[in-house]
Amino acid sequence: MKNLIYLIWLFSATTCFSQPGNRSSFDPKVTEIWDLKPAKITPGKNSGDAPSDAIVLFNGKDLSKWTTPSNGEAKWEVKDGAMTVTRGTGDIKTKQTFGDIQLHIEWRSPSEIIGEGQGRGNSGIFLQERYELQVLDSYESVTYSNGQAGSIYKQSIPLVNACLKPGEWQSYDVIYTAPRFSDNGRVIVPAYVTVLQNGVLVQNHTQIQGSTEYKGLPVYQPHGKGSIQLQDHGNPVSYRNIWVREL
Ligand code: MG
Repeated sequence: MKNLIYLIWLFSATTCFSQPGNRSSFDPKVTEIWDLKPAKITPGKNSGDAPSDAIVLFNGKDLSKWTTPSNGEAKWEVKDGAMTVTRGTGDIKTKQTFGDIQLHIEWRSPSEIIGEGQGRGNSGIFLQERYELQVLDSYESVTYSNGQAGSIYKQSIPLVNACLKPGEWQSYDVIYTAPRFSDNGRVIVPAYVTVLQNGVLVQNHTQIQGSTEYKGLPVYQPHGKGSIQLQDHGNPVSYRNIWVREL
């Protein structure tokens, strides 16, 4: 809203004062903003550390911020500062729900290479429980391009393959804006996502087409805030250092 007010104000000011030839008489103070101040926060000490206004979702010790899709007890193994998909226990999701977010999350596919394609180190990060940012061992493993690590699953191919070797920790930094729906359930503004994998841009303001579907085309169903959900795809993928900022 602040930005909108500023844009309206700036448009009015520039319309009044910036006609060709008039700039010499333009008071520079007219385009200075003093009243609105961004909140002061403290950035993380090292790259990937949570800033002071982040919500830490996993601190390496317990799953207290997590539950299951049916609101049961999250049962993934927590060990050595990481949590690991424990086969058969199912997906887990945050107890808290979110709209627009900045998300930092680190993941590691198993060092022991088992399977191939979609069967090798597969997990995933479902934004608002619906839109999957793929987690997969795509270092030297072939699958369909819109299903490899860094893809928006079956929708958007990553710009590059920025994967590290299996067994190495990797990071995703995600900027996500949730879709907006009208009262009658139509999409007014679709969801958008920007993703950096290991500091490299792999999704650049990508428009999400709808909920992730294994079969058939994506489709939007109206929804409110949603959890961040991590996928149990049967492979022991690990996660650590997960934090989020609400935007
Ligand atoms: Mg997956």
